[in-house]
Amino acid sequence: MGKHYDMIAIGGGSGGLSAPERAAMYGRKTAVIEANKLGGTCVNVGCVPKKVMWYGAHLAHALELAPSYGFKLNVSGHDWATLVAARRKYIDGILNWYGNYLADSSIDHIQGWARFVDAHTVEVNGERYTADHIVIAPGSRPVVLPVEGAELGITSDGFFELDDCPGHCAVIGGGYIGVELAGVLRALGCQVTMVLREEADFLPGFDALLRQVAMDELLKQGINIHSNGGVTRLKRVDAHDIAVTGADGITMSGFDQVIWAVGREPNTDDLDLGKAGVETDARGYIPTDEYQNTNVPGVYALGDATGRAPLTPVAIAAARRLSDRLFGGMAGRKVDYNNIPTVVFSHPPMGTVGLTEAAARELHGDAVKIYTTRFSPMYYAPSEKKVDTAMKLVCVGAEQKVVGIHMIGDGVDEMLQGFAVALKMGATKRDLDDTVALHPTSAEELVTLR
Ligand SMILES: Cc1cc2nc3c(=O)[nH]c(=O)nc-3n(C[C@H](O)[C@H](O)[C@H](O)COP(=O)(O)OP(=O)(O)OC[C@H]3O[C@@H](n4cnc5c(N)ncnc54)[C@H](O)[C@@H]3O)c2cc1C
Repeated sequence: MGKHYDMIAIGGGSGGLSAPERAAMYGRKTAVIEANKLGGTCVNVGCVPKKVMWYGAHLAHALELAPSYGFKLNVSGHDWATLVAARRKYIDGILNWYGNYLADSSIDHIQGWARFVDAHTVEVNGERYTADHIVIAPGSRPVVLPVEGAELGITSDGFFELDDCPGHCAVIGGGYIGVELAGVLRALGCQVTMVLREEADFLPGFDALLRQVAMDELLKQGINIHSNGGVTRLKRVDAHDIAVTGADGITMSGFDQVIWAVGREPNTDDLDLGKAGVETDARGYIPTDEYQNTNVPGVYALGDATGRAPLTPVAIAAARRLSDRLFGGMAGRKVDYNNIPTVVFSHPPMGTVGLTEAAARELHGDAVKIYTTRFSPMYYAPSEKKVDTAMKLVCVGAEQKVVGIHMIGDGVDEMLQGFAVALKMGATKRDLDDTVALHPTSAEELVTLR
């Protein structure tokens, strides 16, 4: 019989690391079970490596502007391998840190695949471990469409394994991951065709203004966007040519890489959840209440596997609050799933919090007042190259409470966090107007909108 813990987390990603970490701070005995690398999706094949690649692409855009600022540059291409090596070194450092941190925090790291034996027992490599509280945080994985030749394409996981920049790549899917990967590839020298089922698949759920400006900027960068009714087949033509056929009957060829970016599914099928009596929905997500409780007492789920707001800070916040509630004497502590800010690392980036204009109008009808602006920031003044910034405030009611903030443009990724605090605190348009602007910035536009 293995050890007994106060808490075991299944999955050593954003959520699974954070619950035992906080529980350990309260002096509890905890363990994390991870089948692959600690850090999960975010550190290994998600936010972190993506942001390193984004910085590389960001520099490529800056280099285009440099001559207008007087720099005499002779850039003779980009070495993908150098960037990837630097990225891998950075991530190895994080992984080392995790290993030491767990040991220093007296959190047991159990390497292997966990399966439930019952609601308080899991098995890993034939060993059994028991706990009063078990946190299920196995995350999610990318899906591919079930079409002929699907295996010829890679996913976002495969993108991070690329040792060379593809020459011509098809990115299938227009969600945030597709948009981000397309932007990085294009900036670093790849021809990119984004393949959508229909135009509505481009950044669904985002405010119309952001979708429009993002689409304009992608096209300006030379990204080809093609809606084909849905991909029906991938076919290898030769070693450097994969052809993509759509429901519209059109076949596009010449792609040396095809990336599926058509969504993700939860890693819940191999957990033997039935043995613990934990229910899933039809798509395999684990429903929880607002306190992360599953239908089984003492078993909790959080992060991507719950299907709610699949973002790293959400998984971390849910995990920490769960341990605060269970071990920190903070009854009632939970995550507020409303008004979660989020950024898309496109070029330029997008940031959004709260209701879109469409959602606000559906809820509040004529009580909605919208303020927008679209301009080319001063940064581009010396250059022929222009990249737009656009902002939208969604306000409601006589007091014009701000219920949505949507921005696209250089710097909005860093700008949004503070404005999200204001929105969450119930700021009104008047509060923004009464805040003295920072000049000259793009951010000042948000407090001077008319
Ligand atoms: C390309 C990409 C870019 C992203 N960019 C961002 C971003 O910029 N900002 C942001 O906030 N979010 C981003 N995300 C989302 C973010 O990575 C996830 O929301 C977050 O990692 C979810 O955390 P989690 O703890 O639920 O799962 P994960 O981090 O996926 O961790 C789950 C872990 O559980 C392990 N596991 C699964 N089953 C078992 C088992 N039975 N036994 C043992 N171990 C198991 C897995 O190996 C994995 O390591 C991105 C995701 C992708 C794919």
